[in-house]
Amino acid sequence: MLATLRSATLVGIDGRPVRVEVHVSTGLPAYHVVGLPDASGRESRERVRAALLSSDLPWPMQRITVNLAPGGLRKTGAGFELAVAIGLLVAGEALPYSVVTDLGVLGELGLDGSVRRVPGVLALVDALRRAGVRRVIVPLANAAEAALVDGVEICPARTLAELRACLEGEADWPAIPALPPPSPDRGDGADSEEPLDLADVRGLPTARLALAASAAGGHHLLLVGPPGTGKTMLARRLPTILPELTREAALEVTRIHSVAGHAPTHTLASTPPFRAPHHTASTAALVGGGSGRPSPGEVTLAHHGILFLDELGEFAPSTLDALRQPLEDGVVRIARQGMTLAFPARFVLVACTNPCPCGLGARACRCDRAQRSRYGRRLSAPLLDRFDLRLPVEPSELGEPPGVASAVTREQVMVAVERQRARLCGTSWSHNARIPAGALERFVPLSAAAAEAWLLLSGARELTGRGSARIRRVARTLADLDDRDEITATDLATAGVLRADITVS
Ligand SMILES: [Zn+2]
Repeated sequence: MLATLRSATLVGIDGRPVRVEVHVSTGLPAYHVVGLPDASGRESRERVRAALLSSDLPWPMQRITVNLAPGGLRKTGAGFELAVAIGLLVAGEALPYSVVTDLGVLGELGLDGSVRRVPGVLALVDALRRAGVRRVIVPLANAAEAALVDGVEICPARTLAELRACLEGEADWPAIPALPPPSPDRGDGADSEEPLDLADVRGLPTARLALAASAAGGHHLLLVGPPGTGKTMLARRLPTILPELTREAALEVTRIHSVAGHAPTHTLASTPPFRAPHHTASTAALVGGGSGRPSPGEVTLAHHGILFLDELGEFAPSTLDALRQPLEDGVVRIARQGMTLAFPARFVLVACTNPCPCGLGARACRCDRAQRSRYGRRLSAPLLDRFDLRLPVEPSELGEPPGVASAVTREQVMVAVERQRARLCGTSWSHNARIPAGALERFVPLSAAAAEAWLLLSGARELTGRGSARIRRVARTLADLDDRDEITATDLATAGVLRADITVS
């Protein structure tokens, strides 16, 4: 007796359909799983058996073969267990075949017959939908997330016994739980209860302008200054002025965080992610990889959002080097078991750093030459060059008035974002910062006067082509923030100030 069910496995952050074939035949009792399962797939026998017996359901004392197809695809995790258990019920005639025809099944089993959550349900259900499956059983804990996929009926499962009764029509399916309200993902373990606001930071008008430009135009931002200047406070408030994600981006972000096993929000993320890994984070934690199933790193968790690196100069040089590829390509490639996985990693890099190890900088520095040159090597020229916006931050004067509130700055950012969307509509570039140099003439035209100012500025600073292109993009964002079509010579001069020549050591 053969039963075939539909399921799916994760490859990177994508789901791939898998057929689960359960075959029961006469012969000595045995249990085999074939078709490239990983260790947890091979060990499924005990969990499936215990779950069936705990649920007062029969375990066939026969020869059981489970085949996971296609055979060439490596399957990860224990997410096939529920499909195997249902297949055994059908093969043992405890369930009619008709109820599982074209049924998608995702879920792990507890020894007590409970159905446990699996990572990446959004991607898995989406893969089944694309394969033509219209009805999918998922663990109740994953149901709200699964229901984000349009065009698929979601059947939530709590326990194996209840699931059997629902499939037989003896009981109603449990209701899909409501989505919890979205909460901004800060990624740094900080207490997200306390609302942050730019009004908390005094002074720093230039750094605030740079922050708004970064939020609107997607420009990488570096703030350099001694401790206590408020640069970190300012950067941490960036999420309060970011525009909401589009639905498409929100689905992608939710899908990535679901694959990473982030629980239990599983609502559609509407706020761009803000990830703030510590400087002791390993290269694998930052860019992805690790043993077993490769997991997305911080750069991927920050996709469509912000990667915030505080104390940039304290990160290991090899770790900072590993950022180069994602900064360049917007993607991380990880080679594993004869195949290459691609994780999306299109983020805005925001970083703070001290000017030198002691943090006091030129005026009062206590570092010796060796310390400073070591620090300088970490913040290599190629890395510093990536930042469209980089500026020194000096301590605010005492008695400066409280800053402008986040809500006010966010309005201004939204105006700029609308202009930018209209400009870049139909292109693959989401932000001014991503317009290629070759397309600047068309998308960031300059008047004759502005063009002259741009050439003078580039000449006076001896800027490379890349450097002056970065200034031109920032000037476009500054004009957008001011709700203007035309870029002025002042915009270009301000953009030049916002891209200061930072020398470390
Ligand atoms: Zn120093």
